[in-house]
Amino acid sequence: MRFTKLRLNGFKSFVDPTDLVIADGLTGVVGPNGCGKSNLLEALRWVMGENRPTAMRGSGMEDVIFGGAATRNARNFAEVSLQIDNTDRLAPAGFNDEDQIDIIRRITRDAGSAYKLNGKDVRARDVSMLFADASTGAHSPALVRQGQISELINARPKARRRVLEEAAGISGLYQRRHEAELK
Ligand code: ATP
Ligand code: MG
Repeated sequence: MRFTKLRLNGFKSFVDPTDLVIADGLTGVVGPNGCGKSNLLEALRWVMGENRPTAMRGSGMEDVIFGGAATRNARNFAEVSLQIDNTDRLAPAGFNDEDQIDIIRRITRDAGSAYKLNGKDVRARDVSMLFADASTGAHSPALVRQGQISELINARPKARRRVLEEAAGISGLYQRRHEAELK
């Protein structure tokens, strides 16, 4: 599974549609303070199913919608699309016939989030399960936030164990067990 393209539209400071092609190898994002580097990483985390506003540095999820600037009005929705190359067939079962996986998440003021997976309407759970099984979810230790290293060093053993379990790719199993216990 390889991320090949990220598109932002109305997400935080990216008010106009912005396409980012993610090439093979290492990608660096550089720019002055406040230019939107962290917003880019948050967009990636968000389209992968992040549901905690605090992880988006907001108090409510609608805070990810472009909130206006001196010369631009606020927008009513934000949308992020992620294109994934699956020619290596490393995506979980269910995607075995798909060379490419497209995920779109859109949030509209007062209407919450909606997801599409390869053009079909899906639930947040379907998206988070896709990444949980691929052990690269929105909460994945593979995505390291500013300040997260020191949090990990200072974490209690239980929280540190969760990070290791996520890295080991078993958090999807935990999610399924939790759901089975609720039934
Ligand atoms: P640093 O180098 O300091 O880490 P950065 O490049 O990571 O900076 P970000 O934190 O990604 O910068 O971007 C911050 C900018 O995004 C601020 O100018 C802030 O006003 C803007 N911003 C955040 N949320 C919104 C929003 N909902 N609407 C409009 N602008 C927003
Ligand atoms: Mg930053």
